[in-house]
Order: sequence, then C-alpha cells, then structure tokens
Amino acid sequence: MHTAHGETALATMNFQPLLDEINDEIRPLLGQRGTVASYIPALARVPAAQFGIALRTCQGEEAQAGDAATPFSIQSVSKLFTLTLAMRHMGDTLWERIGREPSGNPFNSLVQLESEHGQPRNPFINAGAIAVADRLLSRGDAKAELLALMESLCGEPVAFDAEVAASEAATGYRNYALANFMKSFGKLDNDVQAVLDMYFHQCALRMSCVQLARAAGFLCRDGAHPRRGEAAITTERHARRINALMLTCGTYDAAGDVAFSIGLPCKSGVGGGIVAVVPDRLTLCVWSPALDATGNSLLGMKALELFVAKTGLSIF
Ligand code: GLU
Repeated sequence: MHTAHGETALATMNFQPLLDEINDEIRPLLGQRGTVASYIPALARVPAAQFGIALRTCQGEEAQAGDAATPFSIQSVSKLFTLTLAMRHMGDTLWERIGREPSGNPFNSLVQLESEHGQPRNPFINAGAIAVADRLLSRGDAKAELLALMESLCGEPVAFDAEVAASEAATGYRNYALANFMKSFGKLDNDVQAVLDMYFHQCALRMSCVQLARAAGFLCRDGAHPRRGEAAITTERHARRINALMLTCGTYDAAGDVAFSIGLPCKSGVGGGIVAVVPDRLTLCVWSPALDATGNSLLGMKALELFVAKTGLSIF
C-alpha cells in the first residue's frame, strides 16, 4: 500500500535544499541549447530561458524551485489524464482500439498508422491520444470532464489556453491527417472536428510544475487521490499500467534512453514539461521550454538525471 512504503527514507530526506541545488546547477545552462517547439505558433513565442521543478510526496509534502509556479502549456502531459479517464470508463475494452507498444517512430508519424490499419501503437503518440479523445467524447462532455478532474487533483481551478488551442487548430495539419486517416479505417466514432477540438484543448491546458506534481500524485499512490479522504482516481491495477506505459512510451522516441539514464516512468510534452513518478514515494514535474531533437525538454531531462543521481531514487 502507498502509505506503508518509503516513509522511513522520506522522513530523512529534505527535498527543498535538493531542488534548490538542482535549480542552481541548471540555471547557468538556460538558453544555451535546444529550441522551443516552433510548429505550434503560440508555443514558438515562449521565452526559452525558464526552468522550474516541483515535487509532492505520497505523504503530501511539497517542494519547488525556479519557475515552478509559472503556468505553461502541458501539451502531451495531458495524455496521462485523458488515458486515466478512458481506462476508468472502458476498462480493458479500451485496448481493442489502441495498442501498448512503443512506436519507434516520431509521435506524429503517419507511416506506421497506415501499415497498422489505423490502429495507434499506444495512447501517448498523437494518433493514440486522438483515439482516447474520441472514446471520451462518446461518453459526454469530455472537456468539462477533464477540467473537473484536473481541478479536483490540483485543488484549484485549471483552464485551457484558448490562444494555444486556436493556434493548434489553425496549423495542426498532421493531426487532421492522423484523425482523418483513423476515421477512414473506422477507428473513430465521432466527428473528426469534434475529436480534434477535444485533443487541441487538452494539449492547451495551462498548468505549473507545482500543479502538475500535485495532479499526477495518484500515479505514485496506487491510484489514490493526492489528497487524503477523497475518492480514488483509478484502481491500483490501472495506475500500474499507466506507469508501465509512461516508462515504455512516455518520452517519444527517447523512452529507451530515458529508462536507461533516469529509470523512472515519465511523460513529456512539447511545451517543455515532464512528469516523473517514483512509485510509492513521490511525483516530480520539471519544465524548461527548449527541446532536444527527440522533442523532450533538454534541461528538464538533465534535471531529472541530477535528481536521480543525487537521491538514488529509481524503479530499478
Ligand atoms: N499538441 C501537440 C501536437 O499534437 C502535442 C505534441 C506533444 O506534446 O507531444 O503536436
């Protein structure tokens, strides 16, 4: 059980000085390498030289450093939360439409989707997340459901960034292609425009590292709500499976490297955020907008490496 694990180790670990130290080591590197996502015009304007880090333990202790309270576009990190909702609603039938294998291809690749007859490899590539959005739309007002989940998890209101959503809707040609392609194979039940409207809005959620570390808290607590006394977010079985997918598919084409060098389930987004889970102990969120060639935050990954090296925390 989540409450029984790691309490002794955590009692002796003071995370605030550690996050301050990581922030001090990362800040001189800001603005040196990497580029912000330029294919979404509203993201291209985000200043690159920012870095935040926040964590929340299973016991509810929090620590933060740098720009941890600055809201940013969570982009693909949202796929964690929509997947959680879809698994809650559909259980194992969800996997009739979506695979669970790493793609080994870019997150927005069309080639694999064609050879696999419109069935996305996993729920974290764009095609998979679009298929998840379709499943949620079939159940009702998916945007309202997602906002309600995020507000409950964070304990405060969370909003979509209308400008980012509009920017993606105006330029997301590849996502239109992916969705139309899946529709042509009969893999989407709802109208393509409606499915993409949901998808673009979930990607446009605006949250800070502090909020995301809190919101992902159920993933280190076997599905239990980050705040005690609230109803569970998902089952232990589902929480484990989401962690497994994060490890194998959560960081684009770099998942193997991330497992090798960091050894934690992670989900990244092209806004520069990365959520990492230390099961039974804590959730961590890092953010820095400049990305490496795989689409992951360059300094975010560096910060996670430092965190793991300094704490020895890893699932291996
Ligand atoms: N909204 C982005 C897209 O669809 C999400 C990409 C990402 O963060 O992986 O291209």
